Amino acid sequence: MAADAVAEIKARLDIVEVVGGYLTLQRSGREFKGLCPFHAEKTPSFTVSQERQVWYCFGCQQGGDLFAFVERIERADFRQALELLADRAGVELEAPGRRAGRGLGRDRRRAIELNQRAQQFYEHVLWSTPAGAPGRALLQERGVAESLARRFGVGFAPMGGTGGDALVRYLTAKRGAEVQEIVGAGLAHAQRGGGARDRFRHRLVFPIRDERGGVLGFGGRALGDAMPKYLNTQETSAYHKSRSIFGIDLARNAIERERAAVVVEGYFDVIAAHAAGIENVVASSGTALARDQVRALGRYAPAIVLCFDGDDAGRAAASRAVDVVAAEGIPARICLLPDGVKDPDELVRRDPAAFTAMVQAAQPEWQVLLDAALSGGEGGSVDARRAAAERAVSVLARIPEAATRDLYLQQAARRLDVGARSLTQDLARLQRQSPGRPARVVLPQPAASASDGVPLDSVASPDETPLPQWEGYLGGIVVHRPDMARVLTLELGLELGELTHPSVRRIMETAQQANGGGFPLHRLDAADQALAARLMVLDVPELNETSAVDALERAMRDCVRDVHEATALRSAAEIQRELQSAKDAGRDDEVRILAARLAALAAEAPHLRHTLSAR
Ligand SMILES: [Zn+2]
Repeated sequence: MAADAVAEIKARLDIVEVVGGYLTLQRSGREFKGLCPFHAEKTPSFTVSQERQVWYCFGCQQGGDLFAFVERIERADFRQALELLADRAGVELEAPGRRAGRGLGRDRRRAIELNQRAQQFYEHVLWSTPAGAPGRALLQERGVAESLARRFGVGFAPMGGTGGDALVRYLTAKRGAEVQEIVGAGLAHAQRGGGARDRFRHRLVFPIRDERGGVLGFGGRALGDAMPKYLNTQETSAYHKSRSIFGIDLARNAIERERAAVVVEGYFDVIAAHAAGIENVVASSGTALARDQVRALGRYAPAIVLCFDGDDAGRAAASRAVDVVAAEGIPARICLLPDGVKDPDELVRRDPAAFTAMVQAAQPEWQVLLDAALSGGEGGSVDARRAAAERAVSVLARIPEAATRDLYLQQAARRLDVGARSLTQDLARLQRQSPGRPARVVLPQPAASASDGVPLDSVASPDETPLPQWEGYLGGIVVHRPDMARVLTLELGLELGELTHPSVRRIMETAQQANGGGFPLHRLDAADQALAARLMVLDVPELNETSAVDALERAMRDCVRDVHEATALRSAAEIQRELQSAKDAGRDDEVRILAARLAALAAEAPHLRHTLSAR
C-alpha cells in the first residue's frame, strides 16, 4: 500500500513545485538551481532536476527524492513526510483503516499536548516551589546549572499529596483535561473506584522529546534509593521506547554538522556533554539501543559513536549495540572510558577536554571488538593464540559486510601469525553451525586489504570510501535505467561482491529488485540516496537518444572489465603479501598453495598476465 502511495504521490506532485515552496529556484539549463537550505552558501549549488524528479546539493552532497527533501526540511521521518505529501497530492493513505489511523493521530497529538503541559508543570514545581527542593539539590550535586536544566526541560514530579495526584488535579482543574486522556498519555494510573494517581512522584523528570521538541513522555529518576531508579513512560500513542531518543531535539543540528551521533547511556551523560560544549550527544531512553533508534539517527548522520560506561554492563551493552548498528548498515565507532571512570558524566565533570578527546579517538567498532578478542593472544603461547583465534572468529562472524569482514580477518591472521586460510575455514564452520544466520555469509573473497594503503576506518565508513570511476559509471547507468542492473549481472557477469563502494553495491541491489518504472530512491537510506541522486543529476552520455545504439553496451562491457581487473589486482596483491609472509616464515606448504592460486588467477585473467607477473 505504502509503495503504491509513494508512486501515486510522485506521479501527482512535481518536485520543482514542492521544493520551490521552500526556497527560490531558478532555471539553469535543463535544471533548477537555488541556495541550499541545508548548508550556508552564497552561490547556488542546490540542483533540482525536473526531468528526473530528484535534488542534489553539490556543496553539502545531500540529495534524494521528494520524500527525502521533505523529511530533511520538515525534520520529519519518512512516515510523516508521506502523510504530508499525501495530503498535498490528495492521495489517501490506507483507505480501509483510515478512520482508525486518523483516531490514532488525534490520540497522539493529544498525548503530546498533555505531556507538554505536564512538562511545564514539573518545571514550575522544580524551580518555583518548596516541593521542588530535593530536585534542585540533586541537580546541584550533579553540577547541572539551572540554564542547562531548563534547556532540557528538566522538572520535578512532587509527591502529590495524599492522593498522589498533583498533576492529575492540575491538568483536570486548570487545563480541562479528562482523567482518561491523562491516563492515555502515560501520565497517570487509573485508580479503582475512579480517579487517577500520578505515574511520576517524587522524581526528577527528564522530558523525552521528538526532533521538533514535542514532549512524548518522561524518564523519571528516583531520589535517594527509591526503586526503580529510573522509571519511563509506558508505551502510549506518542511514546515508543524503541523509537524515542533523549536529547535528539537539541543534538540534531550538531549531529548533522559533526556527521556523527554520539550515543551515551544516561540522561545526565547527555546533559554533561552539552555542558562541555559537545552537542551531538543523545541517549536511548529506558532501553538498550534499538534498531528504530539507530535508523532515526542514521537520517542525520552517517556514523554513530557508542560511548558506554566503563563497567562490565556498559561494555556488554556497547558490544550488543554494535550488532544493532551494524544491522542497519551504519558504521559505528566505540569510545572506551578510561579505567576508574564510571560514566561520561563523571569524566566531563572531572575534565571536559578529556571527554572531547575520547570521542575523537573513538575506534571503528570491529577494531575495538577484535582488539579485545586478540588481547593476550598476540605473541603468546600456542594455547593463548588458539583461544584468541577462537574469540576473533566469533567477532568476525558478526560482521555483516563481506569486504569489511575480510579486512579484519586478514588483520587477525597477521596479528596471531596464523594463516588467513585457517581462520577463513574456522569462520565458515562457525557460520554453518549458527542457526538463524543468513546463508549469504559465504567465504570471504580476497578484497581490498589494509595493505592497499586504505586506512581501516575509512573502509568502514561508506561515504569516505573512494568511488572508483567505473563503479560510479555503472551506478549512474542503473539509477537512470534500473533494468540495466540485470543485464550487467546476468549477461555481462558483474558480481555485486566485486564492487568496492558499499553505496554503489546497494544501489545496484536496489535496481535489481526494481520491477519496472523509475529507480526507487526512497528505498535507500540517506547516504546511499545522496549518491544515487548525484548520479541521477549527472548525465550518462551513452544513454542519450543520439548516441550510437551499441555505445551503451560497449561502455558497460568496458566497465565490467575494469571491475574484474580491479578485483583481480586486489586479490593478487593480497596473495603476494601472504606469499611473502609464508616465505619469510618458511611455511612451504602454504607457499605452494598460494603460488598455485596466483597462477590460477593469472590464467583466469590473461589480459592481466603482464601486470601480475611484474609484481
Ligand atoms: Zn547543501
